[in-house]
Formats: sequence, structure tokens, C-alpha cells
Amino acid sequence: MLDFRYSRPTSLGEAVALMGSEPDAQPLAGGQTLLPVLRARLAAPGRLVDLGRVPELKGISRSGDTLTIGAAETHAAVAGSAVVKAAIPALAALAGGIGDPQVRNRGTIGGSTANNDPAACYPSALLALGAQIVTDRRRIDAPDFFTGLFSTALEPGELLLKLELPACTQARYVKLENAASRFALIGLFHARTLQGHRLAVTGSGTGVFRWTEAEAWLDGGGAVEGLMDIPLDPERFTGDLHGSAAYRRHLVRVAAKRALALGPVAA
Ligand SMILES: Cc1cc2nc3c(=O)[nH]c(=O)nc-3n(C[C@H](O)[C@H](O)[C@H](O)COP(=O)(O)OP(=O)(O)OC[C@H]3O[C@@H](n4cnc5c(N)ncnc54)[C@H](O)[C@@H]3O)c2cc1C
Repeated sequence: MLDFRYSRPTSLGEAVALMGSEPDAQPLAGGQTLLPVLRARLAAPGRLVDLGRVPELKGISRSGDTLTIGAAETHAAVAGSAVVKAAIPALAALAGGIGDPQVRNRGTIGGSTANNDPAACYPSALLALGAQIVTDRRRIDAPDFFTGLFSTALEPGELLLKLELPACTQARYVKLENAASRFALIGLFHARTLQGHRLAVTGSGTGVFRWTEAEAWLDGGGAVEGLMDIPLDPERFTGDLHGSAAYRRHLVRVAAKRALALGPVAA
């Protein structure tokens, strides 16, 4: 049997203190990833710090053009929020397409972001939209946050508190999903921001990335059909039993064409 201590703090101060109390304390959010990991004995934390009752990690609000989402908000809450639907309709749609109702009602945006699964949906939105990730120690720009497979800029014991995203109604997420798990075989988030087109890809197998060559093509007025010929680094792709690297690479072009053809998700 796994032997660990379990704590359920009721304030952020208490949670931060517990995280600092021992080197192998680990936060528990929705448990949709962490509990299977524990069951498989792939992690052995000395203490689980359950974030479910920390009020400072909750809340969805908008101030000016900035949408703020607390780390402990579930995918279902993000999907159903009128504030998210008005500020970034594509983000609400993305959240509504994650997993199944159980996953959406337990899994959180903070847990998914901190986990940085290479097939997770949110990282592509955060990267394309230029989100900021706010922790108990600092704020981190999305490109600096996602550092590789299941790895982020979070330091040991650091807690993700909230996400800040610029409002954007010109965006769409297209996911070509694994029919069994609903994770992305390839997911592509397209946004038209003040800086131009942004296309971020998840599911390639090497971690979320921006397809900058396609962004430059579209910013220069290039036609959507031309995306089939725009360079896309094969080194970014790996294959597995669900799809080869070449197949996944092709799906990026299909997803990009589809996102642009369908246009933004309506507010
Ligand atoms: C069947 C199934 C289908 C799924 N389909 C999809 C899908 O289509 N798209 C998708 O994107 N995801 C999918 N997921 C993953 C799901 O979104 C999970 O919710 C998510 O990966 C983890 O979120 P969680 O809140 O459950 O975090 P947990 O499992 O509790 O934690 C995950 C990791 O994040 C850390 N962590 C949690 N919160 C914090 C915090 N505030 N600060 C620092 N570290 C923290 C934990 O210590 C742990 O390492 C699926 C999962 C399942 C089981």
C-alpha cells in the first residue's frame, strides 16, 4: 500500500505552508491524472495537499480585457461560464470537449496546466493566446511555462494560483481526438490576436508549440489552402500505436485548414 499523509487546507496560506513543510509534498487538484499515477506507483509523494477547499484558487472574472480563471476551476465550470463564453468563446468550447462528464466535473484548468500532458488541450490555448500563469511566487508567460513533456517552469513546491488570458473572440480550437480517451491526437488552437495569427499545436508527442511558419504565411495574406505546403518541422512529431508521426503532422494541416474555414466560435 502507498503510505502518504493527506492534508486538506482551507486557505492559501495554509496550502503554501503545507507545500513548504516537506520536500516531497505534492498538490492534488481533480485527481484525474494524479490518482492513476499514484495507483500505477509512478509517484510516491510523502504528503498530498488537496487544493479542493482553498477559496483563493476559485473564481472566474473579467477586468477590462483580461480574463482570470482560478486554478481549481473545473473544466465544466470553464465550459459553462458566461464570462468565459463572452471573453474567449473558443476556450469555453475547448473545455467542453475535454474527456467525458466525469473528467470535466473533477479535472481542473490548473491541474491540466501544471501537468502539461503533451496531448492536453489547454496548453495550446494558453500558448496561442499569450496567457500568463500566476503562481504563489511569480507570474510566467506561457512560452516560458511549458518546457517539455510533462514538464513546466514550476519549481518544487510552487503552486499555480490562476491563469490570466487576454480576451479574444476571434479564435477556434479544432481537436482530432483519440476515440477512446478523447485526448488530442492533434489539437490546434487558432487565434487572431493584436499581434496577428497564432496557431498552437498539441498532441504532436514532443510538447505544445507554435507553428510560426504558418502564422507568418497568414499574416502576410497567404491563402488557407497554402497551409498544406508551409514548412512544419518533422522533428516535432513522434508516433505511437494511435498514429504515426507522419499522420499526426498531416493532421496539423487538416486542423489548421478546418479552424480557419469554420472561423471563430460565436460568442
Ligand atoms: C479519461 C480521461 C480523458 C481525458 N481527456 C482529456 C482531453 O480530452 N483533453 C485534456 O486536455 N485532458 C484530458 N484529460 C486530463 C484531464 O483534463 C485532467 O483533469 C488533467 O490532466 C489534470 O487535472 P486535475 O485537476 O485532475 O489534476 P491532478 O490529477 O490532481 O494533478 C495533475 C498534476 O498537476 C499538479 N497540480 C495540480 N494542481 C496544481 C496547482 N494548482 N499547482 C501546482 N501543481 C498542481 C499535481 O500535483 C499533479 O502533478 C483526460 C483525463 C482522463 C482520465
